[in-house]
Amino acid sequence: MNSQMVTATNVDISNCDREQIHLVGAIQPHGALLVLTEPDLHIVQVSANTDSFLGFQADALLGQTIDVLLGAANTEILLTKLDGADLTDMLEHLMILPCLPHLDARFHLFGNRTDGLLLLEFELAVEMTQTLENEGFSHLRDTIHKLQKTPSLRVFLNVAVEAVRAYTGFERVMAYQFDAEGSGEVVAEAKDPDLETYLSLHYPASDIPAPARRLFALSPLRHLPNVDYIPIPLISNSQSGTGSLSVDLSYSFLRSVSLMYTGYLRNMGVKATMVMPLLKDGKLWGLISCMNHSVPKLLSYENRTKVELLIQMLSMLMGDRERLDYYAYRMSLNLAFEKLVSLMGLVDNFHKALLAGETNLLSTIDAEGLALIADGKLTLLGTTPTEEQVGLLADWLSQKKEVVFSTHRLVHDFPESESFCSVASGLLSVRISRMDSERVIWFRPEVLRDVHWAGDPNKPVEISQINQEIRLQPRTSFALWKETVHGQSRPWLVCELDYASRLRRAILDVIVERSKLLARTNAELERSNQELDSFAYATSHDLKEPLRGIHNFVEFLKEEEGGQLTERGLQRIETILRLAGRMDNMLDSLLQYSRIGRNELDLKTQSIGALVGQTAELILQVMPEQNVSIQIQPLLPYIRCDRIRVAMIFHNLIMNAIKYNDRVEKKIEIGCDASINPPVFFVRDNGIGIVQNQHELIFHLFRRLHGRNEYGGGAGAGLAIVKQAVHKHGGRIWLESQIGMGSTFYFTLTTMRDADREYR
Ligand code: ADP
Repeated sequence: MNSQMVTATNVDISNCDREQIHLVGAIQPHGALLVLTEPDLHIVQVSANTDSFLGFQADALLGQTIDVLLGAANTEILLTKLDGADLTDMLEHLMILPCLPHLDARFHLFGNRTDGLLLLEFELAVEMTQTLENEGFSHLRDTIHKLQKTPSLRVFLNVAVEAVRAYTGFERVMAYQFDAEGSGEVVAEAKDPDLETYLSLHYPASDIPAPARRLFALSPLRHLPNVDYIPIPLISNSQSGTGSLSVDLSYSFLRSVSLMYTGYLRNMGVKATMVMPLLKDGKLWGLISCMNHSVPKLLSYENRTKVELLIQMLSMLMGDRERLDYYAYRMSLNLAFEKLVSLMGLVDNFHKALLAGETNLLSTIDAEGLALIADGKLTLLGTTPTEEQVGLLADWLSQKKEVVFSTHRLVHDFPESESFCSVASGLLSVRISRMDSERVIWFRPEVLRDVHWAGDPNKPVEISQINQEIRLQPRTSFALWKETVHGQSRPWLVCELDYASRLRRAILDVIVERSKLLARTNAELERSNQELDSFAYATSHDLKEPLRGIHNFVEFLKEEEGGQLTERGLQRIETILRLAGRMDNMLDSLLQYSRIGRNELDLKTQSIGALVGQTAELILQVMPEQNVSIQIQPLLPYIRCDRIRVAMIFHNLIMNAIKYNDRVEKKIEIGCDASINPPVFFVRDNGIGIVQNQHELIFHLFRRLHGRNEYGGGAGAGLAIVKQAVHKHGGRIWLESQIGMGSTFYFTLTTMRDADREYR
């Protein structure tokens, strides 16, 4: 803690970022360290435990050459080893020293060259009797075989931690994966059954600070056999200038660790650790972390070597395994894509094809919710924000240029999403038409939601400073991590973006294909409608003349020969005249109907208020005996429309409102809701009402719901003509009705443009 005071209030493990842990000037007590100059092999620094460890006082070594300790023969061997070894920026096992003359112990000797100095480290050698020694390699081979057969990275890591635990005997072994921001998650764990699990716990990047991370990547294994060790300082000959320098212990396996780190481990109830980096394609991907909770644990060099080998194999195989996961996922997306495309071709409603089936837009991709905005409709699937929130998002997205847009930090990009970040912190959106408004949006939840808590997350965390020592609970880590990843989801993968843009192309193809087909069908329909209209016009027009002839000749017959006919004969003549009259009426309606279809609209801006007023007045004049009140809403808009046809619409609707009404006081209301675009007109009555299942049928030509002479009779063409006129304007007509209470007919005239809308 040399550059900044750490107190109970500012403490976190990231303070270690500022601690130069490679220049600590001390080692752990399970070995001894000598620092020498080359080539003379003068000893310039020693660890303060040489007496107990190597049987020589520090003073007796400092300033001497190494042969004082090793003897001439061993020094000779060492010199040849040093001659052939690079040792720069690496720690190498040089030799196993035979028993030294003054000691009854054998040592492993490790070497490392740094800053122009030679570092020699001594560690006790154990006898080759441990199980691992005997079975080590066949175990290793079996484990690798097993790892190669695992179907996914998760299973692979589970096998790996089980194997490391079996090899080392540590009480807990965890695989820990870093994310892009450096925070990490425990993704696999093998442990003593009595221990509480750390699986799925997340830690912030600051838990493994940058310098520690760098050291992890440099050395294949970091071992801390006793968390409660007392550091052994390096001492130097005060006369020697070189000896007083801080030596870089980056590659030393004995290097003393950060006080923050041991404090942290102690708080987690850890007595010993061993940490090894997991590299994927040469980069630090995660760690294998071993822990002992009950007693300290020193793993011998021999056993460490086997584990190191296993970890290196893991690192090599892991890249493949992760790639395999990725390929399998990419493949499943490809299959889903093929299926969706073929479904879109088969089903008429292609939106249904994308959402309804077992394979749908949400089923395969790693997302929890989906919104499809198409044809002016919003459909939600899975866990999503509300319709209103999706509306907000869609507005925001429509300002983006990109056709495929993704983010795994939505709150950061769109702060308004804060209130629903638990369901949508990640978003992948693809525009599916040339219009900005049509799109598919996939949602990913905030990662926090997936986290399993190991304790009560709401309990305040205690940070205290006892005996100058910093106490930090593991849960503090969690709180830090939580802050770091707030508003973030798992990031989107390249294959997912690719899937989205391929779907876009496929959907566009279908839309283009469909619209071409629709255009063709419309053109054909238009042509056949025109032909039908001409036919209807020609027949009704041409039939009228012979019908008039029939009518006239029957009249003549009645007048001239009526006296000679029997009563029955006369009745027959009357029936013929009535039928001819009805047929004439029907031909008139048909003519009127076909004329609307055939003729172009004469569009002019009209005051609908004036037009309705005149129509109503005309009707009331011809029905003076009826008790009818027609209420017309003031401020009806001005609309660009065909005056005669719109008058015809109102005329027919008002007439029906009066006709199909049993009340003594017949009330009719006419108005318009101009707050929506296009404005919706209505004609409301308090008449007999129409049953729901007839709402479509009444618009068919010559369709009546009543007996021929009931309710004043009629040809059954009025509403068909009204509908034709509304459609000709590009509008829509529909109704709401309640039996015995009345009906309201609504319609729009969409040829209206905003500019043509005024109020009187
Ligand atoms: P018509 O009035 O000549 O019979 P329409 O096409 O105008 O033909 O109407 C079709 C049928 O719809 C009518 O026969 C009537 O049964 C029903 N109808 C139309 N308007 C109303 C209304 N306002 N209230 C109740 N029924 C109605």
